[in-house]
Amino acid sequence: DRRSEGIVINDDWPGYSLDLFSYPAHYSGDLDCVIVPHGVIMDRTERLARNIMDDLGDHDIVVLCVLKGGYQFCADLVERIKALSRNSNHTIPMRVHFIRLRSYLNDQSTEDLHILGAEDLSFLAGKNVLIVEGIVGTGKTMETLLEHVKAFKPKMIKVAGLLVKRVQHSLASVPDYVGFEIPNRFVVGYALDYNEYFRDLNHICIISESGKKKYKV
Ligand code: 5GP
Repeated sequence: DRRSEGIVINDDWPGYSLDLFSYPAHYSGDLDCVIVPHGVIMDRTERLARNIMDDLGDHDIVVLCVLKGGYQFCADLVERIKALSRNSNHTIPMRVHFIRLRSYLNDQSTEDLHILGAEDLSFLAGKNVLIVEGIVGTGKTMETLLEHVKAFKPKMIKVAGLLVKRVQHSLASVPDYVGFEIPNRFVVGYALDYNEYFRDLNHICIISESGKKKYKV
């Protein structure tokens, strides 16, 4: 159904010219185009918050924010869930917990995945857990994390991913809540980085070849 794949951005979508928006001058030349402007991210997030509350709002929620790339989406999503909660008669307590995963070097996925801050998640038992991730590529990262979280016996686990890439051999399940389905290209901005650069960019953009070279480690 349309709801679960989110807003679909096709492969032939050229994006918006960077000249049409404001962005930090230190990134001029490092980006090809804007693929999702900040305002559109915010509007989509508002609706995702409502879908999430409809499904999870019957029980205590623990939000598991996947750092670092998920921090901005998580912060904005949590804000909107809070707004719904304080304007509703059936409100539910929400906790936010942070974990950190690391699997990327330059723009290549590496095999070994590190989970930090996930040693003891026993407080998840019996709770509705919402994992919040900035971007899902092959889905391997999410799969590994799901296995780890399941072991702590939550009542329910849902995954929210702002972006999901259309990749050829995505073995894994897609998130339950998807902001945007995007082409299989490397994107940055809105907390998504390339070797720690571009987190200070509001829009989601495609990095340019010269940008990749400039910030390569
Ligand atoms: P997967 O295991 O799904 O292939 O990779 C997921 C992880 O790779 C995400 O947590 C994310 O950090 C990173 N990732 C995948 N694609 C991109 C991308 O286009 N841009 C950025 N900045 N990170 C990405």
